[in-house]
Amino acid sequence: MANVLVYAETRGAALRKLALEAVTAARALADASGGGEVHALVAGPSGVGAASEQLGAYGADVVYVVEHAALSNFERESIAATLADRAKQGGYRAVVLGFSTQGRDLGPRLAVKLDAPIASDVTEINVAGDAIVVKHPGYANKVLVTLTLSGSLVVLSVRPGAITAKQAARSARVESIQPAVDPSASRVVVKQVVEGAKGRPDLGEAPVIVAGGRGLKAAENFKLVEELADAFGNAAVGATRAVTDDGWRPHSDQIGQTGRQVSPQLYVAIGISGAIQHLAGMRTSKTIVAINKDKDAPIFKVADYGIVGDVLEVVPALTTAVKAARASH
Ligand SMILES: Cc1cc2nc3c(=O)[nH]c(=O)nc-3n(C[C@H](O)[C@H](O)[C@H](O)COP(=O)(O)OP(=O)(O)OC[C@H]3O[C@@H](n4cnc5c(N)ncnc54)[C@H](O)[C@@H]3O)c2cc1C
Repeated sequence: MANVLVYAETRGAALRKLALEAVTAARALADASGGGEVHALVAGPSGVGAASEQLGAYGADVVYVVEHAALSNFERESIAATLADRAKQGGYRAVVLGFSTQGRDLGPRLAVKLDAPIASDVTEINVAGDAIVVKHPGYANKVLVTLTLSGSLVVLSVRPGAITAKQAARSARVESIQPAVDPSASRVVVKQVVEGAKGRPDLGEAPVIVAGGRGLKAAENFKLVEELADAFGNAAVGATRAVTDDGWRPHSDQIGQTGRQVSPQLYVAIGISGAIQHLAGMRTSKTIVAINKDKDAPIFKVADYGIVGDVLEVVPALTTAVKAARASH
């Protein structure tokens, strides 16, 4: 029996979707290791403890709540110290977190503090005897690497969207704990948080992403991408680096090797060539639809459905079709 500790990521006082994915992964790992408990740690401002019920519904047995006014923004030093402190006390087999901006920061800090091996950007977790075996896409998603982690405690960060959050109908015991290090004494201070596009889900959490490339020809044609995203109702808008470098979209929209890595249920690539650096950020999407006027564009090699045509004609027609399909349901 081995317990697993999860960092349940929040934004402000709200749980992020990848927190539920991490709890789901931890639940499966605990079950595969002989049925241990899943303990989640949630840290944030006053009120963040309200997330506990949801964490229980996705498989947590215990939720440690760290509430502190100075935790409204991501206070990495205090959270890493608190997680490490908890991990040392609980006899855990693994600490699981999301491979998000927060997870990328916390994971290595934790591995050092715990002197534990770490596997980042993991898409699958298995148990083989005493070892934990994970899959992790490498070389810009060109290969899938299998890693075997030995050691009594390991740190794993899970790629957002790679593991589907699943309810596990448990009810968690909730315990309030103090931060191990005063968050207001942090040496890294978040001065400002600039919100992305209002009214749209975050790229890492959206079930549908509509992304545009240079094939749209001009910044103003990006409204076609916005309109298709609006038609889906739950879609985020993404872009290639060519587009963000040209200032058509903010850099926060960039998907790819040097942008965001996403795995939505549906990825619609509009006027995107499919350069290897772009594919690095989206090829693990569950279903990929590509629209390009060049039938030999590399994006079609990873697409499940392809439309060869001019985006300025195809996209408005697709938007009309999506609206009609949604209206008839
Ligand atoms: C170190 C490094 C890191 C990088 N990181 C990233 C990254 O993170 N993300 C990223 O996206 N890129 C990244 N790039 C850039 C990448 O190599 C490509 O240059 C970029 O992805 C191309 O963007 P694009 O597909 O929008 O443009 P293009 O490659 O110019 O493709 C435009 C496509 O639109 C099609 N098209 C043109 N007109 C129409 C039309 N009317 N209707 C339909 N289709 C049309 C064309 O056939 C073409 O396939 C990186 C590059 C380097 C060197």
